[in-house]
Amino acid sequence: MLLTFEQAKKNILEASSLYNQLSSEKVALFDALDCVTAEPVISPINVPSFNNSAMDGYAVRLADINQSKLLPLAGTIFAGDDISNLNWPSGSCLRIMTGAPVPEQADAVVMQEETEQTESGINFLGDIKLGSNIRCIGEDVKQDSVVVTKGTRLTIPTLSSLATLGITELVVYKKIKVAIFSTGNELTDIGDPLTNKSAIYDSNRFTLKLLLSKLNCQIIDLGIIADDPNRIKQSLETASKLADLVITSGGVSVGDADYTKTALETLGKINFWKIAIKPGKPFAFGKIGDALFCGLPGNPVSTLVTFYQLVQPLILALSGEHLTSNNLSFKVKAATNLKKSVGRLDFQRGVLQVNSEGELEVASTGQQGSHLTQSFNHANCFIILEQERGNVAKGEYVTVELFNNLLK
Ligand code: AMP
Ligand code: MG
Repeated sequence: MLLTFEQAKKNILEASSLYNQLSSEKVALFDALDCVTAEPVISPINVPSFNNSAMDGYAVRLADINQSKLLPLAGTIFAGDDISNLNWPSGSCLRIMTGAPVPEQADAVVMQEETEQTESGINFLGDIKLGSNIRCIGEDVKQDSVVVTKGTRLTIPTLSSLATLGITELVVYKKIKVAIFSTGNELTDIGDPLTNKSAIYDSNRFTLKLLLSKLNCQIIDLGIIADDPNRIKQSLETASKLADLVITSGGVSVGDADYTKTALETLGKINFWKIAIKPGKPFAFGKIGDALFCGLPGNPVSTLVTFYQLVQPLILALSGEHLTSNNLSFKVKAATNLKKSVGRLDFQRGVLQVNSEGELEVASTGQQGSHLTQSFNHANCFIILEQERGNVAKGEYVTVELFNNLLK
């Protein structure tokens, strides 16, 4: 019996919620990119911390303007000026620059373009509204308010906003440790020569390293392990002692050299799953000692799809990130016919594009075999075809899910 994709994902996330080994550390703001906050971040100040001008223009009192639209100039305030001893006689205006402190008595700043300079002073041409062009204290951020909640993955805009608060350090969760190895007698390290005609490069471990570094994990690389039940068992044991999560590729199917299953039976609590998805039907998940385990199928496209769809949410959860879906999905018309057999949920690779009528549509990247890496190469989205759906004709609506940052 095949497990549905939703059930598999639910099982994985449930297991991660029982797994609570997160520890935290203080890091410099600059080093916090891609980390996850372990505490809410509270603003130590108001931003802006003083009323200031949004424009280059003139600060006025409305009472003066009601008397006369022509006011003599009494001085100039620049950004950074200390105005505690400012002398501003009534019946006059002040030249003021963007970001300069606005005196308490000012009711508005009038932008330069709405004034005229004359010999006897500044002529105010239009109507002036109370408070216009004054950026008020605390308008952006209030002192003591929560600016970033616990469990937030830190991005450049968020860190930039924290820099405006003068924050220099943050408490974040430590990186989770992920041990990886590839299984297969045919595998050769990239960089080494292929020694016989049936050898192939171990691209999966390379891919996994890229994916894990993008997800801000600490990687423990255990290399290539031959198809030998004892060596696989030993490696799993070592990996589980070193890491929070162990990820392997290959050997989880039903072939005669697929030893991961045998190796695991004695070691831990493992669910071998056949998931009703394509690509990526065989997928192992469970626990070895204190570590969680994901065994990905060996075909490169299956590795990438199962990592993206199942391992990625697990890692986000294990990293302490509060999960809001960062996957944008919607329906568009298929620009090409799509081959699909009933019975599994397909994650085909597609190109979301704009047609000559200016409408969004999605085209297939071509052949979708799980060994064909080129099917991913120019893709920018998954075309997700429902389990019970058959072939799709051009023009039918299909669900697409835009790739998130992980694949960019
Ligand atoms: P397996 O899941 O071990 O049955 O492997 C399925 C297919 O993926 C086979 O054609 C393998 O040669 C290939 N494969 C397995 N591991 C890797 C890897 N690390 N890198 C590239 N291809 C692999
Ligand atoms: Mg294999």
